[in-house]
Amino acid sequence: MWTNLGTPDKTPAVMGDKTELDTIWKALLERIRVEGAGSLLDVYLANSSPVARLGETLVVEVSNRFTKEKLEKEHSREVEAVMESLGAGISNLKYEIRSGADSAARPAPAPMPQATIPVPAKKPVVAGEANLNPELTFDNFIVGKSNAYPHAIAKSVSVNPGKVYNPVYYYGGVGLGKTHLMQAIGHEILRNNPSARVLYVSSEVFHNEYIDYIQNRKPWDKFRRKYRDIDCLLVDDVQFFEAGERIQEEFFHTFEALKNQRKQIVLTGDKTPPQLEKMHERLRSRFASGVVADVIVADFELRVAILKSRAEEENMVVPEDVIRYIAERVSNNIRELRAVLHTVIAKASLLNLPLSVVLVDEVLRSTTGPQKPRELTLEMIQAEVCKQFDVRQEELVGRRRDRRVVRPRQVAMYLCRELTGKTLMEIGQAFGKKDHTTVLHSCSKVEKEMAKDSVVEENVEKLRIQLREKLG
Ligand code: ADP
Ligand code: MG
Repeated sequence: MWTNLGTPDKTPAVMGDKTELDTIWKALLERIRVEGAGSLLDVYLANSSPVARLGETLVVEVSNRFTKEKLEKEHSREVEAVMESLGAGISNLKYEIRSGADSAARPAPAPMPQATIPVPAKKPVVAGEANLNPELTFDNFIVGKSNAYPHAIAKSVSVNPGKVYNPVYYYGGVGLGKTHLMQAIGHEILRNNPSARVLYVSSEVFHNEYIDYIQNRKPWDKFRRKYRDIDCLLVDDVQFFEAGERIQEEFFHTFEALKNQRKQIVLTGDKTPPQLEKMHERLRSRFASGVVADVIVADFELRVAILKSRAEEENMVVPEDVIRYIAERVSNNIRELRAVLHTVIAKASLLNLPLSVVLVDEVLRSTTGPQKPRELTLEMIQAEVCKQFDVRQEELVGRRRDRRVVRPRQVAMYLCRELTGKTLMEIGQAFGKKDHTTVLHSCSKVEKEMAKDSVVEENVEKLRIQLREKLG
């Protein structure tokens, strides 16, 4: 029915046709991957699938009870809000555990005494155990000018794991293909050698597992074996290791153990190793000790090729002008690029509209919204303070000295000093050409008041949070 888009006799998608449900589901996943970056929500949803639609309710099968609880208790509003924004007329999701699935509620078996732990036989790891997403393979990875170098590294490492470059460290912004490349390496190693033991893990999951082992006194040996007794370890988004010293220590030993056995390590991060300021120097230097490759923004031709391949995978005929239009407008994130295409396709299908640039515009307006800035400006801080204390901007930067305006003015100066890199002089200028000593005086006044009065402190903290939320 996809190729029939736009024909007047197309049946509206309300009764839960499987293809329709899958399309809606894919659009939801793409959107969540864009918006929920950093959370594990996309992982929970990726292992779930829609099974039926009952009016406004979508019934979704999940793989175990843990996922069901996470989705119901922590993410239900978020998922439903995204679902509603797709315009498919679905506002509720009902999660059911897939029959025959692991209930995940079994109590863990009692740990065996150390001495009797058998040495595990080298058993082949299937893609599922390697924790790889079946879609992130080299077959699905489009190569263009901008990603030819990181791709070539990935290819050569998968033919010769542990031998050519070790570790491989990919860095770059979000949605550019780092995870895809890293997982493609894992798939390819397994394809060349099905008994290879490959493991993909995000640094957050590694960290959480580490904490879980410590807090619940689980057999430590098991953790070590899991991460050290393997042939290839893929660790995604290592910048999150910056959160703690102990996890860095643990990861350092994992790294060394693998490296010494000439096992392949692949890492990704959002910065270069030297830029990971909170990372211990010995880890930074290890990260940089193999090959470091920049995954850059896809060039226009590559964006077009990716969109075309996606459309083809969906068996969709998408007009060339629509493809180019999307590629022109969504330039710095491949995840976003795919999400826009999916939403356009879903919307065209559900509303029985032709695939056109007008529809793309509509989708872009409703999904991307205004871009968030990277840094706070003095004006943004002033505006937020004015809003909270209900004073006007002229009053805030003016000369009046009554209490109603003095307090907000001091708080605003304090936050400008704390949250921007501006000098005292620059801040003074922005507050009606006041002297830098006035700014300094205001800052220490606020500090003292915060120490004395928790209401003041809370107010300042609330402003801080609101201001940080404005950042992209
Ligand atoms: P990152 O890890 O850099 O944030 P991902 O690897 O998750 O980015 O990529 C974001 C999305 O874009 C994924 O769905 C991925 O499959 C897709 N993608 C990225 N690069 C390519 C490519 N060259 N060809 C096809 N799809 C790609
Ligand atoms: Mg990633």
